[in-house]
Amino acid sequence: MKLYLFFFSILIALFSCQEQTPKTSLTINEKVQVLLQKMSIEEKVGQMTQVNITVVAKQNDVSNLAKGEHALDPEKLRQAIVDCKVGSILNALEGRKEMEGWHEVITDIQKMAVGNTPNKIPVLFGVDAIHGATYIFGSTLFPHNIGIAASRNTQHAYNVAVVTAKETRASGVPWNFDPVFDIGRTPLWPRFPETYGEDVVLSTDFGVASVKGYQDRGIDDLTGVASCMKHYVGYSKPTSGWDRTPASIPERELREYYLPQFHAAIKAGAKTLMINSGEVNGIPTHANKYILTDVLRGEMGFTGLAVSDWQDIIYLYTKHKVAATPKEAVKMAVLAGVDMSMVPMDLSFYDLLLELVKEGEVPISRIDEAVTRILTLKMELGLFDNPFPDPKALDNYKRPEYKALALAGAEESMTLLKNDNELLPISSDSKILLIGPGANNKSSLHGCWSYSWQGNEEDKYPETTLTLKDAFENVLGVDNVICQSVSDYDSPMNFITPSASEADYVVICIGENAYAETPGSIKDLNLDSRQKSLVQNAKSLGKPVIVILTEGRPRVLNDIEPLMNAVLMAYWPSEMGAQAIVNTVVGKNNPSGKLPFTYPRYTGHQVLYDCKYTELGLEDTQGGFKYSGYTPQWGFGHGLSYTSFEFSDMAIDKDTVVASDTLLISVEVKNTGLRMGKTAVELYSRDLVASITPSYRRLRKYQKIELNPNETRSVEFKLSPQELQFIGIDNRWILEEGSFELLIDDLVQGFYLKK
Ligand code: BGC
Repeated sequence: MKLYLFFFSILIALFSCQEQTPKTSLTINEKVQVLLQKMSIEEKVGQMTQVNITVVAKQNDVSNLAKGEHALDPEKLRQAIVDCKVGSILNALEGRKEMEGWHEVITDIQKMAVGNTPNKIPVLFGVDAIHGATYIFGSTLFPHNIGIAASRNTQHAYNVAVVTAKETRASGVPWNFDPVFDIGRTPLWPRFPETYGEDVVLSTDFGVASVKGYQDRGIDDLTGVASCMKHYVGYSKPTSGWDRTPASIPERELREYYLPQFHAAIKAGAKTLMINSGEVNGIPTHANKYILTDVLRGEMGFTGLAVSDWQDIIYLYTKHKVAATPKEAVKMAVLAGVDMSMVPMDLSFYDLLLELVKEGEVPISRIDEAVTRILTLKMELGLFDNPFPDPKALDNYKRPEYKALALAGAEESMTLLKNDNELLPISSDSKILLIGPGANNKSSLHGCWSYSWQGNEEDKYPETTLTLKDAFENVLGVDNVICQSVSDYDSPMNFITPSASEADYVVICIGENAYAETPGSIKDLNLDSRQKSLVQNAKSLGKPVIVILTEGRPRVLNDIEPLMNAVLMAYWPSEMGAQAIVNTVVGKNNPSGKLPFTYPRYTGHQVLYDCKYTELGLEDTQGGFKYSGYTPQWGFGHGLSYTSFEFSDMAIDKDTVVASDTLLISVEVKNTGLRMGKTAVELYSRDLVASITPSYRRLRKYQKIELNPNETRSVEFKLSPQELQFIGIDNRWILEEGSFELLIDDLVQGFYLKK
């Protein structure tokens, strides 16, 4: 009580100060508290409500409105912002994806908010700009995270975020629902391409680089946006492999593999967080107070805004069946720790939460806590100073140098999986037969979140974006490209043999067409049988077969892999992807990507690179039965080059260490081939004995280097023994005394850790 009185007297003092002192002398915290005191319960609950843009638009698709007619419906806008005091709006409108369209929409929203509400609180607008500004025509789209992680160069994640932030902010939008910190340990999961792969260190490093790219120039700067870590936590490992279905993740695993990247991003200052739509261990995350409050706030110290995912509070009632009524769902979620509800298709949350507060079912202290976070963000973003799109920010939109960054990212992500007899690169006067559903289409290169949610609307792509056919024709010449691609993944995929026989090589682009979220859920990880037949038919021509994989997740192809002479994994490389692929095929780009996941050989046996020793098993039984565990099609970290690298003289500076020491590890790397090339030098650790069964190996560090032919470089890593901790029997991080090994390529060095 005393504390409360003390706090109250400070507020009174602040109020009176505000009259005499210029506004700027108050800190953001103080300003927020002053504002909070002036707000009604209705306004506070409204701030916690987020609706979809279609709720305030004339119609879902506003492309056909009369020239000059505005997209938003003033009455609907008034109802949302003035009557229900809605604090946040999300998403894009069909027909308003040009920069001018964005400005019109954001301006109309903010005019309504600051012109017609008692406290003139601007609206917080959020979008999904996932690998570039998804919904702004003219923006640059970069490779998806899964490809960016293959580059083993976090600069690319940073570049993607910087450009995305600049173009998004130029549209007047200050909040981006990115990056994804989910970890890709279940390739069936349709959001696998949005992850940085199966490893915690990669997910942490690349995700944090992205947060920095969004925020580090200041989120009130015209080049910055607030990032949103998502989806907290455990979304990516559904048992069924399908999107938004239950995950069972023991707490130990959750803490060791799924939480560290969020914790690192919180330390890096990530401003907001989006909650996992699914359930973990039987509890929908939106109702999980332990995860949303105790762990997130109490343990990891997150002070920012936690927003629900799409409709997920309503789903507590309609889908998860943990709430008996929609109102109970709202109560559960808000009390668990959700600060803002992405309702988003109606205003129900506002009414229900208001009732709950008036009935005393949700304490006003919880509302104040949530609203404080929301208002703090709005102030930090500078929205109270200027909520409107700033024309100066347009300088940061559509800049030619962005294309070069996108090309560099795509080139460095190219991962050469197979290259029998050094078939690749081919000379640029070769003649090719180009087939496969991805060979002459843009959505296969882009994947999800590309001008549309699913990314599969071919007519939305800029004319200037090249397909593989275009890019090959530019380099080999039109006459040297016999393209017989059927761009529809559901059609028969044959080709006409007579003209094909003129080609020196068959280049086949197979994999997956674009998909996002639930529509991308599949029942079989096998590559589609039509595409497999295509490879078989192509092989019968007797020409070398070069396969380009454009896919968001690894599709199993072990039965046809022997028919392929070379395989280039391109992931979803996006806008500059066709050029990056062709540059790699003809040798202008020497591939240096390494798989950020284990490419499975079988659909029913998916063992990850950091498996336990028993999963590696080579077991001799009486009957002579043997099995071998880690037998992927291509392992984590696999990726060939047009040159070769030799590793030697690995050394560790100490053979016995204590926890506070730092280990210095060095290795000599030599380019023993004939071309300049890049490679990622990766350092793994292996705990030989531990109280919780240790992993066979764990990636700890990596460095990307570039070497001329014959050049040798000494690469050094610093490793703290603290990085070798694991989650022990009591679900806490521990470091145990014992023997460890460190591995680089085929080299191994051991040391002993003393407590
Ligand atoms: C997705 C989120 C996304 C949100 C808003 C949801 O369906 O799960 O990743 O940010 O929609 O578009």
